[in-house]
Amino acid sequence: MQRNRTLVRQGAASVTCAYRRDEENMPGSRREVANAKEEGVVFLFNRQPLEIVGENGEVTGVRVVETRMGKPGSDGRRKPEPIEGSEELLAAEAVVIAFGFRPDPPDWFDEFSVETLPSGRVRVAALGNYPFQTTNPKVFAGGDMVRGSDLVVTAVHEGREAAKGIARYLGVI
Ligand SMILES: Cc1cc2nc3c(=O)[nH]c(=O)nc-3n(C[C@H](O)[C@H](O)[C@H](O)COP(=O)(O)OP(=O)(O)OC[C@H]3O[C@@H](n4cnc5c(N)ncnc54)[C@H](O)[C@@H]3O)c2cc1C
Repeated sequence: MQRNRTLVRQGAASVTCAYRRDEENMPGSRREVANAKEEGVVFLFNRQPLEIVGENGEVTGVRVVETRMGKPGSDGRRKPEPIEGSEELLAAEAVVIAFGFRPDPPDWFDEFSVETLPSGRVRVAALGNYPFQTTNPKVFAGGDMVRGSDLVVTAVHEGREAAKGIARYLGVI
């Protein structure tokens, strides 16, 4: 939500936030949505992006389809269902994509024995001599990929602690 407001403050002529569910089923802070509306962000609910459209390497818009709320899926959340024939093009000069908080571990983790938890987050040593050391002793990790979605200050702190762990591992402190 902050990104929408940042775009307004950066001087965008208009900012539209397209979301595939309705307002009631949108996760996130109600207060932030209200604040964004106050700053001029236009919310388009029940619009599912299909394609980013462009010309000569420049974005010109986003093709969206209208949705209606269907039955809940396995996660308990009502699923948006596209309405046939309701596609439209939203004109845009810039597109910011926001699509969730789940980790997406890269293939090389297996090759280098960097273990993940069932959630996909990286397993690290909690305490001990080398904080934030992964299951590959030469790889350290911190921040959202370890803890899940959190705050910038947490990521900065964990980066600093991991740096101490690395320095200890290398025997320089
Ligand atoms: C929409 C949104 C709003 C938020 N608002 C706030 C807020 O108001 N205040 C706040 O404190 N926190 C906020 N957060 C949370 C905050 O952004 C994160 O907690 C923080 O950025 C985590 O830092 P990180 O270094 O762990 O990960 P990231 O900031 O995600 O950094 C990871 C970096 O690694 C790069 N990367 C990924 N894969 C590779 C690869 N294979 N090779 C090289 N580089 C790679 C990525 O491009 C990225 O630059 C928000 C998060 C989101 C998504």
